[in-house]
Formats: sequence, C-alpha cells, structure tokens
Amino acid sequence: MDKILNPSEDNVIKQEREQAEKSFLYSKKVTCPVCGHTFNSPTVKSSAYRVTKKDSDFFIRYSLINPYFYDVWLCNSCGYAAMKRDFDSLRGGEIDQVKTSISSKWHARTYPDIYDVNIAIERYKLSLLNYVIINAKSSKKAINCLKLAWMYRLIDTPQASEMELKFLKQALDGLSDAYYSESFPLCGMDKYSVMYLIGELYRRTGHSEDSLIWFSNVITTPNVKVSLKELARDMKDLIKTEDKKADLLASDNVNNTSNENLVIPEKIKKSGLFSKFFK
Ligand SMILES: [Zn+2]
Repeated sequence: MDKILNPSEDNVIKQEREQAEKSFLYSKKVTCPVCGHTFNSPTVKSSAYRVTKKDSDFFIRYSLINPYFYDVWLCNSCGYAAMKRDFDSLRGGEIDQVKTSISSKWHARTYPDIYDVNIAIERYKLSLLNYVIINAKSSKKAINCLKLAWMYRLIDTPQASEMELKFLKQALDGLSDAYYSESFPLCGMDKYSVMYLIGELYRRTGHSEDSLIWFSNVITTPNVKVSLKELARDMKDLIKTEDKKADLLASDNVNNTSNENLVIPEKIKKSGLFSKFFK
C-alpha cells in the first residue's frame, strides 16, 4: 500500500514534471502574417528531443517532452493558426480569406505554459480549419490530419481510436490526391516515402489489398533506400501474418453466425465539419 500516493504527493510530482517540461521550452517570437500582431510561442529546445520509438507510419515517440504538442502556432489576436513550417507562407488572397472567415468570428483563448494532448488536438483542429478556409494544398491538410490521428493514438480510449482512424482516412485521401497532383517533395517527404506512407495508411485503415500494391511498388522500384524497402517488406509480412490469423479465426468460428462483435473500420461514418476536405 505504500506505493499509493496521497493527493499532495501527487501534486508535488505533477509540479515537478511541469517544471521539468518548462525547462525544455523557450519562447519564440512570432509575427502573424494576417494581422501583424507579435506573440511568443512556446517552442521545444532542440536539445530536448529524445526519440524513444518510431511507429510504422512515421509517428515519432519522444520521452522528455512531446514536440508535436507545440507544432501549431496560433495568433490569439486574429485566430490564424498553422503548423509552424507553413505559418509564414500565406499569400494575399489567403490572408483575406482568414480575415473574413476566421478573424471576424474569433474569440481569444487562454492556454497554460505547458501543453497536453488535448490542447494539441484543439490546436491541430484550429490549424486544419485555417487550411480548409484558405483551400491549402492537399498535402498540407493531409499531414495536419495525420498529426491529429497521432495525437488521438496517444489517448487510450475506444472513442480516441475511432477518431484516430477517421483522421488516418482523411490523411490517406489527401496524400493520395497530393501524390498525383503535387510536385515532390511533399511536406519534406520524397516520392518513395509518400508511396510507402500511402501503403501504410491503407493497411491501418483496413485495406490490405491496396496496401500490398503500394508496398510492392516501393520494394520493386530501383534506387529506393534500403531502410524504406525493409520497412515495406516488414509491413507486407505483417499483413500476411494477420491474414493467416484471420483465416484461423474464421475456421474456428465456422458455426458461429453472429458478426455483432466484428469491427469494420470502413463502416465508421464520416460526419461533421472535418468530413470532406479532399473531394
Ligand atoms: Zn494574427
């Protein structure tokens, strides 16, 4: 029983953790390209990046502090938000669109010094809303959706898993569109990395056959780097292993006609504001 913390000890640990997180951040001065307001945005010091694991769809897991939480810059004066790599790249017409559709309705928000996953989700959604309003390139919207999916992956609930899947699908739609209509690199990714990622997003959203086609293309294309080909081979093997497991399960349940408990990702309904970015 001595391992159970009383509330005050719990608070002390929380404060110490927040203190540590603060030491991994610095304030970066940013000027808003829409309204000209200058503000400080918390930014992760490069010395605080500690990678612990990379997921098969390029999501990087960090130990000390999560840099994804601080990826969106938001001007609290006018509501303009974007991922930091895109923040300054607004054209004249886009500035007008933000002013008309976002700034006119914007109410300033208050954020604590340290961001968590829920704040990150809110900020990625605000950023996505801005991308939709200015009709940003599919690749940008896709990467924004992918990062939203990754944030939901950090939350261990069935609802969050559903949201992750929803945003993975949006990311897949956007990347597929960008693959054929935009020039490479896309958001820093070369053509072959995008091919692989499309395959992996197909796999994660339950479309094994499409996934295998894209992985095979990565494997058989000359000049693709060895590490990416290996990743594609690993994922191909994973699909085959899972297919075998599914076959075994199906033969076990041959007399069981109830499918009530089957989760069919394709049938999760698209709905709401973020349902149609790419068509
Ligand atoms: Zn602004």
